[in-house]
Amino acid sequence: MESIKLNKGREQSILRKHPWIFSRAIKQLPKNIEDGDAVLIQDIAGHTLATGHFQDSSLAIRILAFEEISIDTTFWRKRLIDAFRYRQLLQLPDTSTNCFRLIHGEGDQLPGLIVDIYDTVAVLQAHSIGMYRSRMEIAAALQSIPGLTIKSVFCKSKESLPNEYAASVSDEWLAGEDPGEFTIRESGLSFGINVMTGQKTGFFLDQRINRQHVAQYAKDKSVLNCFSYTGGFSMYALHGGATRVISVDSSAVAVALCEKNAELNGKADRHTAVKENVTNYFSSLEEQFDIVIVDPPAFAKSLEKRHNAVQAYKRLNVSAISKVKPGGMLFTFSCSQVVDRLLFHNTIVAAAIEAGRMARVVHDLGQGPDHPASIFHPEGHYLKGLALYVE
Ligand code: SAH
Repeated sequence: MESIKLNKGREQSILRKHPWIFSRAIKQLPKNIEDGDAVLIQDIAGHTLATGHFQDSSLAIRILAFEEISIDTTFWRKRLIDAFRYRQLLQLPDTSTNCFRLIHGEGDQLPGLIVDIYDTVAVLQAHSIGMYRSRMEIAAALQSIPGLTIKSVFCKSKESLPNEYAASVSDEWLAGEDPGEFTIRESGLSFGINVMTGQKTGFFLDQRINRQHVAQYAKDKSVLNCFSYTGGFSMYALHGGATRVISVDSSAVAVALCEKNAELNGKADRHTAVKENVTNYFSSLEEQFDIVIVDPPAFAKSLEKRHNAVQAYKRLNVSAISKVKPGGMLFTFSCSQVVDRLLFHNTIVAAAIEAGRMARVVHDLGQGPDHPASIFHPEGHYLKGLALYVE
C-alpha cells in the first residue's frame, strides 16, 4: 500500500475521527497512485494514522479505519457483520419488515458504500471508485453474514460514481439472478419493487419511521402525498385509516407502481395516484387536506446550488402549507445534505410567514436508525423533516 503524507497540522481532523481528507491537506501524492487505491495516511512526521481509499478529487481520501490495516476479506467481513449486528439491535429484519439499509457509508465506517437489503436481494451502490473496485469482495462478504440470507447482489453505481469514471461502468448482477419485480414488506405493508428500474436502490428506506408517524395521525383524515414515488407514505396513511389519499408524482413508472401497491394492500378504493408535476398540481388545486406530505428529491447536490435550493424549498412549502386545512398537519422533508437542519428549519419558518399560517412543531424528523450518522461526521444527517400542526 502506498502512503500519503499530510501537510503540517492537517492530521487534526483524523484525530477527531472525521472520515474525510480534502486534497488541500495532502503534501505529496505517490507517483503511480490510481483512483480507488487503498492508502496509508501519515502525518508530517511519518506516523501512520489511518487507512483509506484515494480518489483524485476535492474529497481525496475516505477513511476506512483509524489505524493501519489491510483491506482484505477479513476487513469486509468484519465491517459487514458489525453493521448487521447493529441492525439486529434495531430488530431489522423482523416478521413485518424485510427491507432495510445494511450499510450507510460513514455511519458504518465504510465511506462511499451504500448497501440496501430487500428480502434476499442486496443492492450495492458505490459512491467512490475504491468501493466500486472492491465490489466483488463486498458481494462475497455480503453472502457470508451469519443470520442473513442473500441470494442476489446487484451493483447499481453508474449514477453515483463520478461522471467520467461512470462512463465505463455498467450496473450488473454480481451474484444470483435478477428477480424482476418482487414484493417487499415494510411495517406489515407490501410494496412491489424493481431494483434495476426503480429510483436509487429501488425504495426509499430512510422514511420508514416517518411513515409510521403519518399512519399514527391518519385516522378519518384526507391526505395529499406529494412526490409520492411508489406510495410509501400513502400506504401507511391508508393503513392508519385515512378516508382518502391522493399520491402525486411526475414519474409515470412510479405512479403505476404506486397504484399497484394500493391494490396489493387492498386499499385501492380510497386511493388515487396522479401523474403530475407537484408545482402544477398545487397551482390548480383549490381543496385543502387534513394532512399534506412533501418529500421532494434533493434540490441541492452541491454547496453552489444551495441558495437556489433554499428558495425552491421555500416556494414549495408556501404552497404546501396553504393546502393544509386549519387544524391539519404538514409533513415536510429535505434530503439535501448541504441544507442542514437549522437552514431547513429557517426555510420552513419563512414559508409559514409568507403563507400567513401559525404552526407548532409536532415532531422533528430525520432518517431512520438503519441510516446511522457517525457522531464524528455530522454531514451524515442528510434527511431533515418537520411534522407541523398548522392553524
Ligand atoms: N416520498 C417517497 C420518495 C420521494 S423521492 C417515498 O416515501 O418513497 C422523490 C420523488 O419525487 C420521485 O419519485 C420523483 O419521481 C418525484 N419528483 C421529482 N420531481 C418532481 C416534480 N416536480 N413533481 C412531482 N414529482 C416529482
